[in-house]
Amino acid sequence: MALRFFNTYSRQLEEFRPRDAKERKIDIYTCGPTVYSRAHIGNFRAYIFEDLLQRHLELRGYKVHRVMNITDVDDKTIRGAREAKAPLIKFTEQFKDAFFEDAGTLRIKRADEYPAATDQRYIDRMISMIETLISRGLAYQADDKSVYFRINKFPDYGKLAHFDLTQLQSTGRVKHDEYDKEHIGDFALWKAWDEEDGDVGWESPWGRGRPGWHIECSAMATALLGDQIDIHCGGVDNIFPHHEAEIAQSEGVTGKKFVRMWLHCAHLLVDGQKMSKSLGNFYTIPDVLAKGYTGRELRYALIRVHYRTQLNFTWDGMKEARESLGRVDDWLERLRETAGDKIDNRKIDMQPGQQLEEALDDDLNISAALGFLFESIRETNRAMDKDELDAASANAWLNWWERINRVLVMEAETAELPAEVATLAEARAQARLAKDFRKSDELRDKLNALGWEARDTKDGQKITRRAGA
Ligand SMILES: [Zn+2]
Repeated sequence: MALRFFNTYSRQLEEFRPRDAKERKIDIYTCGPTVYSRAHIGNFRAYIFEDLLQRHLELRGYKVHRVMNITDVDDKTIRGAREAKAPLIKFTEQFKDAFFEDAGTLRIKRADEYPAATDQRYIDRMISMIETLISRGLAYQADDKSVYFRINKFPDYGKLAHFDLTQLQSTGRVKHDEYDKEHIGDFALWKAWDEEDGDVGWESPWGRGRPGWHIECSAMATALLGDQIDIHCGGVDNIFPHHEAEIAQSEGVTGKKFVRMWLHCAHLLVDGQKMSKSLGNFYTIPDVLAKGYTGRELRYALIRVHYRTQLNFTWDGMKEARESLGRVDDWLERLRETAGDKIDNRKIDMQPGQQLEEALDDDLNISAALGFLFESIRETNRAMDKDELDAASANAWLNWWERINRVLVMEAETAELPAEVATLAEARAQARLAKDFRKSDELRDKLNALGWEARDTKDGQKITRRAGA
């Protein structure tokens, strides 16, 4: 089956056709974090969806070049720095670091580039793009000295969001301080400096100021990926006005279609409600780890629902994630025992698991993919119970797993044991070496009490989650 994705622009499933079909090179632009606070699990749901997309495209032989921007100057970052009484760069740096740490915890593959909006190269490009837009009548400087995009001059404005501009006039979206604009939907490309900006600002043909959020993405995307991008992703909350504005700005400058396919990830709810600090249901990655869960488990909980469906995060869901992964771990261990030592046998014709890959071809249908995985686990376990799975078949499954795990990244890593568990496991391995079996049993009990199981195999001790723990 051909790869197909749901394009927000056409609101249809479309066959994926890259610009460069011969070289199979794909450019992907993904809107990254605004580094004014630690990103929450809802933000990371979108980043994990993008990770799944990239990894699946790579499985299908595409060479993905992905850019994710870092928004390190906007209203929120400036306000945060002012309140923290810290220079902007210093204030945002801590959240940049936190973002990379959290992304690593969730096994998200690094993008090829992480351009930052405050980089002078991109500021220069934003300024030159705005100059072009003004020269074409698509932008103007208002009395408040800020520069705005003139949406009435861009007939396609609203096409991505399927938004009728006349509605914009009636929704009362206008803020009282925006009286200088020609149309209430006109958005800022360049914001004139004011006192609240403190020492944040750059010189421009329109005076000192700073870029609007939307132009940051247009400048960085076209600078690094050219006039046209294969796939642009983000959360559904980015569609309007952010991505709509990105299209208007980029196409206004280049005259070419900016993005071939727009993919958007649905919201995440917590216990059926919108996440908010006041409801006490606002979680960051460290919040989830502090409850004793691993990054692997959280990744699973966030990936397992189709990206266009709302995902309801619950602690029961985290328990289910742990159980599901425990089943995968046990299955792999059994397969390895059945396969014997010749795990590296790659000349086997049997190719299990194609259904899973085909499910992902179909707009990343992860529910069908995981359904197939667990069905296969049940079937092969049943065969192993009856001693009916031969070593060659077990090998075939393991080879396939190696392949698909590069997409799902679900397999356990010993390094992920909590520190206390790792220490006990190490002590137990030492005790066994010293043939101190009493001590080794004591340590096994301690591990059990913490919800972990120590098993002795011919390759040494294996530590796994206890079923149901
Ligand atoms: Zn963006």
